[in-house]
Amino acid sequence: MNQKIKCWVLGVFLSFGLVACKSGEVEELHERLSVKLDPSLTQKEKSTIRGDLLELFSQNIATKDGWFSEVFGGNGTESVIEYMDARVNYIIPERVKLVFRVGFGSIVESEFFTKNKTVTVASNMGMALWLTSLSQRKRLTFRIGDVSVPMDDPRNGLIQIGTAYIGGKTKTKMDTNVRNNTLVHEARHSDCTGGVYQSDIDRMKVGELPTNPLCGHTHVMCPDGHDFEGYYACDGHAWGAYSVGGVFSAAISKYCENCTEADRQKALIEGLDSFSRVLVLDKMKDGLAGAPNMTSSRSVIGRNARELFRDMRASRKNLRNRDINFIEVEVSDEPLKDRVSY
Ligand SMILES: [Zn+2]
Repeated sequence: MNQKIKCWVLGVFLSFGLVACKSGEVEELHERLSVKLDPSLTQKEKSTIRGDLLELFSQNIATKDGWFSEVFGGNGTESVIEYMDARVNYIIPERVKLVFRVGFGSIVESEFFTKNKTVTVASNMGMALWLTSLSQRKRLTFRIGDVSVPMDDPRNGLIQIGTAYIGGKTKTKMDTNVRNNTLVHEARHSDCTGGVYQSDIDRMKVGELPTNPLCGHTHVMCPDGHDFEGYYACDGHAWGAYSVGGVFSAAISKYCENCTEADRQKALIEGLDSFSRVLVLDKMKDGLAGAPNMTSSRSVIGRNARELFRDMRASRKNLRNRDINFIEVEVSDEPLKDRVSY
């Protein structure tokens, strides 16, 4: 009998498809990028993703932008590819029903996501499944073709593309620049910067969302008056997925040497859209947010602290109120105003 494993939904991380998977050969995408394509992607989806990445490889970015080098660790396209290579490893379509792919259990859909759902372009399933494995203390695997991939690291890089990715029923026309921005954005969701809090793992066990946005770079609800008011489509912290996507698109619009004017304009619009969702942009521009931390950690923070607290409580369990000596406070009868010295 399958043991049910809840998959806690984090903002726009998850989406759920309808059609069962089929197995087969996993397709390598490009020698410079270790992304593997799921066999159940259509030929159109595969060729679109391949074409997008070839376009990215060909774009000659040579920036002098400080944010770009801090985020991507270099000044050109090669740095973006290395950044993606570390964080995007598998691409699966929305049609995949996750329950058929996860080893050691099944996944229960959360209403939280379906009720808050906008059009899903892509979701970082790898981060969500890693967090699920921690909260359920299970070693989860995910089947891609004939391979079972362990979900034991936040950077396992399992990205699910939504129906809007290739250009479905959306108002926005998707094109190469938008899709590449999306992949750069999703890649940032693979970072658990600073590690995951034990308190957040405890929260997920009881169906609550984690509170630390840095692990998974989770989104917050956009405020009143924002274009995406009421949706989890904004960043409340610096250097999250929208910031990184914005830095990438801004670099294309400003510094791509061999892009067409039309592509640069599209990248500019995409960059502006990304930055419009960063609620702390002014702080970042003023330098108050500090430099981006682009690291990722699988360590659990606070596990030891929790055990120490339990020990401390156990050692004081015989302590009673009357054992505590209160210091007496002298109360004066004088009116307050007479004692004021200024
Ligand atoms: Zn996101």
